[in-house]
Amino acid sequence: MKAFEATQRYFHRAADLLDMPDNMRTLALTAQREVQVQVTIERDDGNVATYIGYRVQHNNARGPMKGGLRFHHEVDLDEVRSLAMLMTLKTAVVNIPYGGAKGGIAVKVRDLSRRELQRLTRKFIDTIHDIIGPDIDIPAPDMGTGAEHMAWIMNQYSKYHGFSPGIVTGKPVEMYGIPGREEATGRGVGILTLKTLSRLGRKPQDTKVAIQGFGNVGSHAAKFLQEADCRVVAVSDHTGGCYNAQGLEVMNAIRYANSHEHLLEGYADGERITNEELLALDVDVLIPAAIGGVITADNVDTVKAPVIIEAANEPIRPEANDALEERGVVVVPDILANAGGVTVSYFEWAQNRQYYRWNLDRVRQELDRVLSQAFEEVWDVSKERKISLRTAAFLLGIKRVAKATVLAGIV
Ligand code: NAD
Repeated sequence: MKAFEATQRYFHRAADLLDMPDNMRTLALTAQREVQVQVTIERDDGNVATYIGYRVQHNNARGPMKGGLRFHHEVDLDEVRSLAMLMTLKTAVVNIPYGGAKGGIAVKVRDLSRRELQRLTRKFIDTIHDIIGPDIDIPAPDMGTGAEHMAWIMNQYSKYHGFSPGIVTGKPVEMYGIPGREEATGRGVGILTLKTLSRLGRKPQDTKVAIQGFGNVGSHAAKFLQEADCRVVAVSDHTGGCYNAQGLEVMNAIRYANSHEHLLEGYADGERITNEELLALDVDVLIPAAIGGVITADNVDTVKAPVIIEAANEPIRPEANDALEERGVVVVPDILANAGGVTVSYFEWAQNRQYYRWNLDRVRQELDRVLSQAFEEVWDVSKERKISLRTAAFLLGIKRVAKATVLAGIV
């Protein structure tokens, strides 16, 4: 099942509970605009290379559209469409005044030099600058992109439209970014993991955690959870991972990755394991924080964790999701679990427009407030209606988007 089909399946499950008519479903499922562009650059060796870029602007009923820019070789229109719709629901679940969008370029990041990546990013903005804007559609980092790319985007967009710090979020702090944005998604994953544990009557010090993906999100989630007294026993990236039943030294792993091209390859703490082995570990909390579709019908029976926090977008295929639900596994869905990033992006954007900035403590405090409220709301809907956290989050998000759509008036 492709990504967008999976998202639609979850959508209809919640829409059925709301008795949503077919015409409103079509409206909610249809993206407002989908753009595919050719991005051609000159490589460092003088050769020409062409890549395909996408921007899907799903819905702006609740505010300007917001969503990351992904650089990954598996990016395609179906995936971007699905992720754009999830962004519409995510911003609604955490109740920040945004709609949803997503973008991406199908590219193997590791094949390009930093200068080539800069050219690629700027060229992409050349092709889409007239359909994005601080009040229209605001990109942000996602897999394969980070603060540096966001600085290039701000600079390139400003060449066309004048000084525009609010065109993009996740910028370097020295360039109209906000302290705490880089850690925000991983920290949010950590905050929501603790909330879930507390609701389940589990203590952090008795909790073993395994995390797949040791990039921006996975590494910050690991650090936060270790500082909160959880035992992070396994981490991995696409080169494989390591497992130490006594608990890993997360900061050592982060330092190692930082000095080895952001990779854990060769890192020795405990035993080396594969990603499949990590997903099957006997832990209390499993956090997929890498790519989509890692828990499937084929490997779901090997998953032992009673709690899964979806730090990555769409890490669980729908057939696997249903099997986990049947087994009573608590899954905190992506549209809640990884919403910390877009929440702090919202703070950054709002402050760019006021030429004002909060300090790190204030950012963390406000992040905690927004995520805690969203968590309580989703949890309560789930308990009241006896539905999964995923269906509850979809239900809450769909309701808010539908309400804004109707209030604006359809003529
Ligand atoms: P990143 O590029 O910083 O890190 C990705 C990590 O995943 C790397 O460690 C990489 O080695 C690993 N990985 C890639 N392919 C893998 C594979 N096949 N098996 C195991 N590991 C693999 O990306 P990120 O920003 O940390 O994003 C990770 C996930 O979180 C993505 O799904 C992204 O959409 C989601 N997300 C990110 C943000 C954000 O603010 N960065 C916000 C919301 C959601």
